[in-house]
Amino acid sequence: MQEQLDEIQAVLKTVDDPELPSVSVFDLGMVHDVKVIGGSVFITMTPTFAGCPALDFIQRDVKKAVEELEWVTDCEVQFSFQQKWSTDAITDEGKHQLKKHGVAPPPEDFQPGQKWTVNCPYCESNYTSMDNVFGPTACRSILYCQACKNPFEAMKPVVDYMS
Ligand SMILES: [Zn+2]
Repeated sequence: MQEQLDEIQAVLKTVDDPELPSVSVFDLGMVHDVKVIGGSVFITMTPTFAGCPALDFIQRDVKKAVEELEWVTDCEVQFSFQQKWSTDAITDEGKHQLKKHGVAPPPEDFQPGQKWTVNCPYCESNYTSMDNVFGPTACRSILYCQACKNPFEAMKPVVDYMS
């Protein structure tokens, strides 16, 4: 049983979010629950940003990847909108991957309404963001680093998007 869950976890680490290439759905903290009943796998996922319309792709990719495991006969993937995702659910590996691809990870322990500092993913220089950089639904925004002149993307912190 644990072995099967480990295998599924390993597979989920290979499925990337289409919006964030090279960051897996697992490392984004989207996998909420995995159940195995015989050869059937039931996965409950938590959608990330409400404004990112990639859920159908993710559902399809996860199903396809998990069904490639030899013992899996079918895999059902559901999104739970009751569960709350927050940017704190992104794993350290996920943050590392984001930076590698020029996306500044969101700050940890962000309090709503607070201003936050974005570090350039290339040279680590500090940026104090302004709320108006991000629209109400935009999950990412392009910024330019004054220090190393690279454009980079920053991910908006999400603590509780349901409220
Ligand atoms: Zn920089």
